[in-house]
Amino acid sequence: MTNLTKFEEVNESFTLAEAIQEAQRCLECKAPMCQRACPIENEIPSWIRELKKGNLGNAISIIRQKSNLPSICGRVCAHERQCEGACVLGRQGNAIRVGKLERFVADFDAEARLTHDNIPEHTRGRVAVIGSGPSGLTVAGDLSHMGFAVEIFEAEPHCGGVLRYGIPEYRLPKEVVAREVHHIQAMGVAIHRECSVGSGKSIDDLFSDGFDAIFIGTGLSHPNTLDIEGGNSKDVVWALHFLTKYQLFREGLADENEINVSKGHRVYVIGGGNTAIDAARTAVRLGARVEILYRKTAEQMPALKSEYEEAVSEGVGFRWMTNLKAVHCDSNGEMTDILVESQDLENGALKELTLSADRVILAIGSSPSTRLVRASNGVESDKGGYIITRESPYGMTSRKGVFAGGDVANRQSTVVHAMRDAKQVAVGIAKYIDAIKLVESL
Ligand code: SF4
Repeated sequence: MTNLTKFEEVNESFTLAEAIQEAQRCLECKAPMCQRACPIENEIPSWIRELKKGNLGNAISIIRQKSNLPSICGRVCAHERQCEGACVLGRQGNAIRVGKLERFVADFDAEARLTHDNIPEHTRGRVAVIGSGPSGLTVAGDLSHMGFAVEIFEAEPHCGGVLRYGIPEYRLPKEVVAREVHHIQAMGVAIHRECSVGSGKSIDDLFSDGFDAIFIGTGLSHPNTLDIEGGNSKDVVWALHFLTKYQLFREGLADENEINVSKGHRVYVIGGGNTAIDAARTAVRLGARVEILYRKTAEQMPALKSEYEEAVSEGVGFRWMTNLKAVHCDSNGEMTDILVESQDLENGALKELTLSADRVILAIGSSPSTRLVRASNGVESDKGGYIITRESPYGMTSRKGVFAGGDVANRQSTVVHAMRDAKQVAVGIAKYIDAIKLVESL
């Protein structure tokens, strides 16, 4: 079993010799299935070929042509469902460890500083990026490469959004996030921290400041809730808030008691995605006894199999086909137990159970915060609060010059899918600004 006092990164990296040995197994397929399965079409065989020869500088240059966040993708992408899941060698159960190789190359580059970006003049126009999660960082990096002057506005003291606050340290060390943010800054992107657009500056202010286009990449910060008896109890906590408080505590920015989960607590996590697993594994590290309650079967759980297996090995319990029906508290408002309904996997019979409980963590998804949309004249959203965008120019909202992408426009997705969308929006923004500049010059 993993040492559960350990909050540091769990998975270890390759050594240089191991990485080259692993790269040498790659067949350099003519029609690489790994590349086709990558949402951002990372040119995997090309950079693996360079790695085989020990040309790590060339390898990272090829990777960075498609990704601004390689050391993050190498750690948190769903490789088993994407590149590694599609690798032809996987048929013999021995797929190339593409994620671990990408992580190795990116980390090696960060330490050895093999490459220096060719930074173009930023003369094509000015873009404001609101939010510094995966989509904001991707749009900023891509537009900077294309010759635009980009400024990021981030409400929190640190950049990264869900990368910094929503994914635990043991899966994604925060120094890695800071490193990728620093790389984007080094490309000439300015960052304004603790600068909230919506409650402070408005979209109108940004246009008045001379920005040609604005990108909204604020993600999903409004947690979904359960409309059940006791659902508003103080001991029902939202997974993203729990993970955020925990990270802030680690950084000395929150008190330990704000984490709301401690040693000996009986904790039930509701949900079946990676966030549920992250919350459960973090609670285990805090000394809690943890079970995940999921309304479907193990096979239907959206979390990665590898994450599930790690959670099991760390002592997280699972109850399948189980719904939370009610939360019961004593006269002081302290949680005492929960009522759940489980369906028998064999005969389908339903039965109710009462389980002693101290905390419930909800990991049942999030939706966009409505604050920014409310404060942004002319930006329309649907009933769920998701910003409505168009196909041409890709990502533009109902307000001219205001674009949106990532989860705030497309519903919850993985880091790399948010990046894929953001890359398309960056192209849409570039086309839009070039067009208005051309018209202005006539
Ligand atoms: Fe290499 Fe596998 Fe991709 Fe083929 S599919 S190029 S073997 S990583």
